[in-house]
Amino acid sequence: MNNKSGDGGGRSLPTPNPTDLQNLVSANRILYKYGVVDGFGHVSLRHPQSADHFLLSRNLAPARVTVEDIFIHDFSGEIVEATAANPYLERFLHAEIYKARPEVMAIVHSHANTVIPFGVVKQQPLRPLWHMAGFLKKNVPIFDIRDHAGDGTDLLITDTKLGAALASDMGDAPVVLMRGHGATIVGKNLPEVCFRAIYTQLNADIQLKALAVGDITYLTELEATAAAENIGGQVNRAWNLWCEEVNSNFEE
Ligand SMILES: [Zn+2]
Repeated sequence: MNNKSGDGGGRSLPTPNPTDLQNLVSANRILYKYGVVDGFGHVSLRHPQSADHFLLSRNLAPARVTVEDIFIHDFSGEIVEATAANPYLERFLHAEIYKARPEVMAIVHSHANTVIPFGVVKQQPLRPLWHMAGFLKKNVPIFDIRDHAGDGTDLLITDTKLGAALASDMGDAPVVLMRGHGATIVGKNLPEVCFRAIYTQLNADIQLKALAVGDITYLTELEATAAAENIGGQVNRAWNLWCEEVNSNFEE
């Protein structure tokens, strides 16, 4: 992390707290360990001391990210420090979701394959079917880049306009599927967004298996809401375990 951050306009930005930076490193490792990201995908944190900025690694495989690789980005998606660091291609999705949703404090973007079927088969929405994924509430919305940028894109969110379209189609949902690409998940902090990303995957995996067995009895919206409230209050129990798991296996 570069200590001398400026926004190019002469205003200096507060340096993020070392604990927040370390937690963002841990989140990268946790998401890798649980198969939400692999060599690709990313996780960001809204800058805790500057709401119109966010913290995101430079363009690296998530499991390789260290505190030194994290940079402050602004809402145009650019790194504000003077650096030669190469940013992630899809940083614009983070910028536009933070811009559109003040309550969102952390974002995960994933290409994990378990959710892909539900983004490409319109007749079969991803829906919560167990209490651990109650936060999904109902059918998970699907963003189709073709609706916004026509045929022939590379499917990636590589500019502000596509980021804004994704944020708009996501609405106030916790998760949006991206047709033929992956998913984006939001939360009010890093523990919640990691929890949601991991359990979105697991719900998708179980739903695929259950569909092969027969007709599914899904959670009702009332059940999903009640379960989300209960489990949502216990996210730190999992987060503390996950941090311990990933940080004991990595050299600082
Ligand atoms: Zn992507």
